[in-house]
Amino acid sequence: MQALVIYAHPDPSSFNAAMRDVTTSTLGEMGYSVQVSDLYAMGFKPTIDRDDFATTFDARHFNVTREQRHALEHRGLRDDIQRELDALLAADLVVFHFPLWWFSVPAILKGWFDRVLVSGAVYGRQYVFERGKLAGKRAMLAVTTGGPEAAFGPTAINGDMLDILMPIHRGILGFCGMTVLPPFVGYFVPYVGDGGREKLLAAYASHLRAVEQLAPLPMPRLADHAETLAPLLRTKAE
Ligand code: FAD
Repeated sequence: MQALVIYAHPDPSSFNAAMRDVTTSTLGEMGYSVQVSDLYAMGFKPTIDRDDFATTFDARHFNVTREQRHALEHRGLRDDIQRELDALLAADLVVFHFPLWWFSVPAILKGWFDRVLVSGAVYGRQYVFERGKLAGKRAMLAVTTGGPEAAFGPTAINGDMLDILMPIHRGILGFCGMTVLPPFVGYFVPYVGDGGREKLLAAYASHLRAVEQLAPLPMPRLADHAETLAPLLRTKAE
């Protein structure tokens, strides 16, 4: 089994790095072969532009999706994108490590999603959710926050963590067909002290050791939608 770890933090000595090291050692002990993409260390380019493509589909109008599809067919993706895409396509499990920044991912990770999740390679018009091209692969987020756990929840000030992560879980990973596992969230990490952080690392290792048994998050299914993508209405009897 192959695991790909995407690490998106500017500091190699961060708590996120400690969690990433738990991932590599724990998955290694479980028999996974683990590859890490350390986005900051790689100087990963976070924005899409024409330099991403050695090929040109339309020199006048830069339609990213069309350029991606054209480049994919003609081996025209820039090397850094192709390398990450190859690693993704080879992986059975992908773990994303990042601090929650503004209820979302750091820009460098958003850039990885934008540039590596190439149209035609990982999704297509008829190839989303259960028909997405990454079907069969599992994905998991390993997130840290500055906010305390009490600040997250259905009635809490920040709202529910699964609602905050929904654009990533559903809009990106599930959309491309991946089986999305429940995230691990290390809350309040700068403020819980060394003892608290040791407990978080131990809890994370337990979460990870159970990765084969974790029940995936529910995702919508294309099969429950019409060609227009409007939901099909089903009666209870159906
Ligand atoms: P670090 O600061 O790297 O580490 C915390 C502590 O752990 C440090 O003292 C470090 O020395 C120590 N440590 C490192 N390794 C170990 C180890 N092996 N064992 C024990 N201790 C260790 N928070 C929110 O809740 N919601 C937001 O929307 C949000 N938006 C943000 C936006 C921005 C732009 C920024 C900069 C921060 C934001 N935050 C937010 C806070 C952010 O999520 C946290 O600061 C971050 O998640 C903390 O994780 P870290 O890895 O950066 O911690």
